[in-house]
Amino acid sequence: MPLSPEQQAEIDTLRASPRSTLRTVSEGMERHLYTAHPVLDHGFVRVVDYMGDDAAITQAARVSYGKGTRSVQNDEGLIRYLMRHWHSTPFEMCEVKLHVKLPVFVARQWIRHRTANVNEYSARYSILDREFYIPAPEHVAAQSEVNNQGRGDTLQGDEAARVLEILKGDSMRAYDHYEQMISQEGQQGLARELARMNLPANIYTQWYWKVDLHNLFHFLRLRADAHAQYEIRVYADALCEIVKDWVPFAYKAFEDYRLGAVSLSAQMVDCLKRMLNGEAVTEENCGMSKREWREFKAVLE
Ligand SMILES: Cc1cc2nc3c(=O)[nH]c(=O)nc-3n(C[C@H](O)[C@H](O)[C@H](O)COP(=O)(O)OP(=O)(O)OC[C@H]3O[C@@H](n4cnc5c(N)ncnc54)[C@H](O)[C@@H]3O)c2cc1C
Repeated sequence: MPLSPEQQAEIDTLRASPRSTLRTVSEGMERHLYTAHPVLDHGFVRVVDYMGDDAAITQAARVSYGKGTRSVQNDEGLIRYLMRHWHSTPFEMCEVKLHVKLPVFVARQWIRHRTANVNEYSARYSILDREFYIPAPEHVAAQSEVNNQGRGDTLQGDEAARVLEILKGDSMRAYDHYEQMISQEGQQGLARELARMNLPANIYTQWYWKVDLHNLFHFLRLRADAHAQYEIRVYADALCEIVKDWVPFAYKAFEDYRLGAVSLSAQMVDCLKRMLNGEAVTEENCGMSKREWREFKAVLE
């Protein structure tokens, strides 16, 4: 179950008492408030609070550009200009606070994004739930042969079944031992801060994560990318859908100038120019490493 009954009750109470406000409201984001979007088998993301909308970005930009912004036709045009020219501070005027439930091994990747504020569920204070991420069969895959940091073909038949059994069995056994160690029935009971150390990295944790839009876009660019691990990518994909509704102009600009964009080195631009001039540029005469050439070709194809 993604949300516990207590969490659901708290949300229901909050939803039952809406208030009018003078603050900026994004209609698209209001629909997401308090809604837990399921991710993976037990996880979710939900918006707890937010500040700002597309207009907050242009409002801030107009402080710095003043009359100069007259040349930009409208809010969307200005937002696209800002994104295109890496003028990032106006995007920091928008903030979002999320409640995320995610496996610990995903949390380890996520926490590397330092430009956010985090408060995590304490497994010193509280008892963790018996909830483990077990991948769906189509995501149980072999080591990739071309990418040392990724997965390749899906495992088949007996091997896939055996892997899933091991994952489930080990998770349950570790949790049984966790419960046995913290139990105070007929024994002192081990401290929760120590008992947790035998739990595997696929156990779920939860945190509140607050970030501004500029840094959220940076996170999404890296984690909604095909190179990111599937298990964090699905969280980033869910967030993309939320951000799209929250700040539609900014999200569209982000899609165009970051998510769907490619960056070419000076050498690559030179090769491209040579190609456009009709020269046969090859791996041998491009001046790039094998890997860079492969990446360049992938961009062109
Ligand atoms: C596909 C992929 C594979 C990865 N593989 C590995 C791996 O194998 N091992 C590993 O350890 N990590 C790995 N990472 C994590 C990666 O190296 C970054 O730590 C992570 O993506 C966070 O990026 P960031 O530092 O730009 O983000 P944030 O921490 O959010 O920072 C945002 C920006 O703020 C600035 N900034 C923040 N803090 C500082 C600082 N202290 N000093 C200077 N500038 C700062 C930088 O400009 C930074 O880009 C991987 C990430 C991805 C997406």
